[in-house]
Amino acid sequence: MAVKSVAVIGAGTMGAGIAQVCAQAGWSTNLFDAFPEGLARGMANIDAFWDKGIARGKTTPEQKAAWSTLLAPCEDMAQAVADVDLVIEAVPEIPSLKHEIFAALGSMTREDCILGTNTSSLSIADIAAASGRPEKVIGMHFFNPVPIMKLLELVAHDSCSDETVAFAKAAGEAMGKTTIVVKDVPGFATSRLGVVLGNEAIRMLADGVASAKDIDIAMVLGYKHPMGPLALTDLVGLDVRRDILLNLKESFGDDSYTPHPLLEKLVAEGRLGKKSGKGIYDWSSGSAEETELPDNK
Ligand code: NAD
Repeated sequence: MAVKSVAVIGAGTMGAGIAQVCAQAGWSTNLFDAFPEGLARGMANIDAFWDKGIARGKTTPEQKAAWSTLLAPCEDMAQAVADVDLVIEAVPEIPSLKHEIFAALGSMTREDCILGTNTSSLSIADIAAASGRPEKVIGMHFFNPVPIMKLLELVAHDSCSDETVAFAKAAGEAMGKTTIVVKDVPGFATSRLGVVLGNEAIRMLADGVASAKDIDIAMVLGYKHPMGPLALTDLVGLDVRRDILLNLKESFGDDSYTPHPLLEKLVAEGRLGKKSGKGIYDWSSGSAEETELPDNK
């Protein structure tokens, strides 16, 4: 079965981006959010993205008109998901909330509907079990900003059927993504490697190995990373990365995932990265500027 219609649950940073690429793939797309202001913000963000594309000559007004026709804001979840081929959930990373939504999706959707979750760290098997038909549930981990980032990490838990994996792969390719298939282990492939690199870079910074900028330049110019691990930690959010490390530490029972004390200190001071204006760098000027770090002793 090829996708023709989709519902996206949650219209925040990720959900709006996912709905946007679904409409761009030519699918009838229902975007649902539990909060009217969340839905309005998500729809406005998509509109602004398309307008920027027109201003830059990357999108035509005709394309925007066609995509807009395919995209429908929905205030009723049951209606949004009732007759679609695929649902992608992108609500906050709260296990009980995801379980509640998948329990509802299990009864609100068609039996052949595939259910994807955009969780970045939670167990897909647990979320799948809540739906009552786990073989149709798969992790569909997109990256921010969704319309630009090429990767779609598919996370297949033990009861996920081969047909579901094949369906999600084809859907990802139709959205212009390169897919990888990863086992349902904590941190999947991306988050696990990303947080370890970031935590080690913070340890090096605390040990005075080099300045933040020079540690980042080492990986950008020496290893061809598009962005250094410290700047990337600031973009993702220090609190988000700390929580993933704690989750890995507990799941694997391995202390090597312990967040470095400097990371804990920055989070405790509210220095969460770009979103709070300051993290490892100062972002108040719009770009990453070196700034004083708290005493780590
Ligand atoms: P967000 O806070 O920007 O958006 C969440 C949206 O869900 C909000 O609009 C909120 O109103 C809505 N919502 C809350 N409860 C709801 C409910 N019961 N039903 C429907 N909508 C509800 O969050 P986000 O950054 O888009 O993250 C969403 C998911 O994507 C999380 O699981 C997160 O871990 C994952 N993720 C985030 C990123 C990232 O860089 N932000 C990257 C990959 C994966």
